[in-house]
Amino acid sequence: MARIPEPHYDYQTEQLAGYYQAAVRDILSELDRIDLDNFRRSNALATLKSISEILSELDEKSSAWVEKNVPKAATDGIVHALVALDVAKTVKEAEKIVAFNEVNEYMVAAAVADTQTDLLAVTQNVDRKTRAAVRKAVSDSMRINMTNGTNGRRSITESVRKALQSSVNTGIIDARGNRWRPEVYADMVVRTKMMETYREAHTNEAVDRGAFYAKISSHGAKDLCRLHEGQIIKLTSDAPGNYPTYDELKATGEIFHPRCKHVFSTIRNPF
Ligand SMILES: [Zn+2]
Repeated sequence: MARIPEPHYDYQTEQLAGYYQAAVRDILSELDRIDLDNFRRSNALATLKSISEILSELDEKSSAWVEKNVPKAATDGIVHALVALDVAKTVKEAEKIVAFNEVNEYMVAAAVADTQTDLLAVTQNVDRKTRAAVRKAVSDSMRINMTNGTNGRRSITESVRKALQSSVNTGIIDARGNRWRPEVYADMVVRTKMMETYREAHTNEAVDRGAFYAKISSHGAKDLCRLHEGQIIKLTSDAPGNYPTYDELKATGEIFHPRCKHVFSTIRNPF
């Protein structure tokens, strides 16, 4: 069997995270431009319009990114199965014959849609937060003017600036209450989804070709994944033998966690 390169999507995921970084930077500079000594509704409308333009451009770019890259991860997973099962002698040869079977066609479409929805939640949250902060800044600005000449003026201005800036820095708050910066969350979502898509496409191709087992990859992991390196899994729960399925291992939380880089390589017979 030819050597199969481990999937690496650092270049692509860094590109996506870069879109988020740039958008955050642009929004922050819109907010920095706000003149709190004289911030009125009409100014606020102009600021909000600029921010929503930045966010819709970000949505367009990240949506196109997902459409291009998530199917690529599926292709790589299928190529891996074709080489592992000796259907193709080399990765190059496999790349020429790779095709999405029906279940992969469906899985990839769902993965693209899911990823886009997860990323959209980030921009929607930033949009909501910045809108609220900008509206509050209008009333705070009026308050600042009323305190003209007093010592309180400076500290109010500073706290309004801080509130405006922090409205951009939380991309999402997860179920555990952790705050994620937009670019960090987007990076985590796509890294995780790319690897899941890779594994699922690999599984679907293998099962379609009558191979129901796989061996988990090894790269000397330091986290709990290490307990599972080289382990045999079943690709379908009705295959004979006392091996865990992918879903069962994933449910332990020890391996195939968010950002996990482990994959598996299908084999016809584990016995
Ligand atoms: Zn892992």
